[in-house]
Amino acid sequence: MEMIKVEKLTKSFGSNVVLKEIDLTINEGEVVAIIGPSGSGKSTLLRCLNLLEKPDSGHISIADVSLDVKQHSRKEESALRHQSAMVFQSYNLFKNKTALENITLSPVVTQGLNKNEAKALGLSLLKQVGLEQQAHQYPITLSGGQQQRVAIARALAVKPKVLLFDEPTSALDPERVNEVLQVIQQLAKQKITMVIVTHEMEFAKNVADRVVFMAGGNIVEQGPARQVIDQPQQEQTKRFVRQFG
Ligand code: ADP
Ligand code: MG
Repeated sequence: MEMIKVEKLTKSFGSNVVLKEIDLTINEGEVVAIIGPSGSGKSTLLRCLNLLEKPDSGHISIADVSLDVKQHSRKEESALRHQSAMVFQSYNLFKNKTALENITLSPVVTQGLNKNEAKALGLSLLKQVGLEQQAHQYPITLSGGQQQRVAIARALAVKPKVLLFDEPTSALDPERVNEVLQVIQQLAKQKITMVIVTHEMEFAKNVADRVVFMAGGNIVEQGPARQVIDQPQQEQTKRFVRQFG
């Protein structure tokens, strides 16, 4: 079953055309890694998927919500946003809230649940990312890897259909990268649909079902992860993986 369908998605910043009629379909439970040089439009594509960035034209569907980016109601826009949750490079935790509060603060969690239910959910998610013991600590007392794991738990708390990761390990000290990648790998095993922008080629090979290579606002090449990274067909992809592999 199709979970995400992007059709002819276009986005410019002034005269800079950043996404050029992108078409991309992702199935339910599929893990897709997006790779490509800096400035190729990877973050913009992710941000457009949950409308953090407003695309210029095209069509986006996630699960049962579908909209024309030029022409839709507020209600459709809000519905599309709620289909996905984003994990950023820089964690973006609330500094004056504990790990647990960061997770239970989301209106989507608190609206539907009473305090105890929200707390139980928060603790179970912290357990899932290996941070039950740190529930009452503030972000400043946690390592970067721990903060990013809290951010992942927070994203899961709203029970999104799709998780979007924008270079989730790029800001981490090298010795903290694996603990975050392992959490993402666990989620992949649970068949959660995920789109992950990453420069970690080994991780992409091991965890992603499919790799999408972007350059200059286009999808240049895509296919099974090992095929794209180990045997790329396009010159641009070859040059890129040689540099990062
Ligand atoms: P990537 O994530 O692949 O490095 P981005 O999607 O961040 O690429 O950026 C693609 C292009 O869009 C770059 O040229 C970048 O400078 C530009 N860009 C991204 N965000 C903005 C913005 N908010 N305003 C103007 N230009 C932007
Ligand atoms: Mg980026």
